[in-house]
Amino acid sequence: PIVQSLLKVRGLNAWYGESHALHGVDLDIAAGETVTLLGRNGVGKTTTLRAIMGILPKRTGSVRLNGREMIGTPLHKVAAAGLGFVPEERGIFASLTVEENLTLPPVVAKGGFTVEELYALFPNLKERRRSAGTQLSGGEQQMLAIARVLRTGVTLLLLDEPTEGLAPVIVDRIGEIILEMKRRGMTVLLVEQNFRFASRVADRFYVMDHGQIVDGFAAAELPGRMDRLKEALGV
Ligand code: ATP
Repeated sequence: PIVQSLLKVRGLNAWYGESHALHGVDLDIAAGETVTLLGRNGVGKTTTLRAIMGILPKRTGSVRLNGREMIGTPLHKVAAAGLGFVPEERGIFASLTVEENLTLPPVVAKGGFTVEELYALFPNLKERRRSAGTQLSGGEQQMLAIARVLRTGVTLLLLDEPTEGLAPVIVDRIGEIILEMKRRGMTVLLVEQNFRFASRVADRFYVMDHGQIVDGFAAAELPGRMDRLKEALGV
C-alpha cells in the first residue's frame, strides 16, 4: 500500500469521439517508483498515458499530481507541474539536427536539464549533435525523444513502449537511462511489452484489460506469475 501518492488517478474515463476507451482507471504511483503498465494490444495502455497527460479530447475523473488536480488544467501548466510524456511515435523534429531538437525552445524550463547535462547523460547524442533526426537510428531517436522531454523539468515521466523495435543492446541502454532517472529521484510510468526489460526497471506492475486496471503486483512477484501473465497477455 502506498502511503502518499505522487500520482493518484481515480475513475479515469476517456473517449475517442463516441468510442469509450477508458472505463474508470484507478492507479497510484509513489514518488521515486517505476511502474509498468501491461496488457494486450488495444486494452487502453496508450490511452491511459494520454489521458493522464491530458492530450485527449475528452476525459473525466481525477488525475492528481502531488495533490493538484490535472483534469481541467491547461497542457502547458500540466507540463510545468512536472508531467512529461514521450509518445510511442517519439515526437522529435525529424528535419532538425539533434542539437536543434535539444535547444528548442531555447529556454530550459525550471528543473529541466541543460544541453550539457543531456549530453552527459546521452553521450551518443553528443556524438550525433549535427545529424538530422531522420539520420538517427531508432534507439537514438528514442533517446532524443526522452532528452527533449527532460528539458521541461520532469517529476513524473510517462513513456510509451520505449523499447519497441529496438535492438537488444539498445534496449539495455534505454534500461540504464531509466535506472539513472530513478537514481535522480524521477518517477516513471511506462507501457512495455518486453518482459525482460520491464522486470529490470520496474518496481511494480499494473495489468489492464478492457479499459480498466484488473491487477497490480510488486516486481518480486513477477517470476511466479510469468507463465499465467504470458498466457493472459498473449505473448
Ligand atoms: P497498443 O499496445 O496496441 O497501443 P493499447 O493498450 O495502448 O494498445 P490504446 O492504443 O490505448 O491501447 O487503444 C485503446 C482503444 O482505443 C482501442 O480500442 C483503440 O482502437 C482505440 N483508439 C486508440 N487510439 C484511437 C484514436 N486515435 N481514435 C479512435 N480510437 C482509438
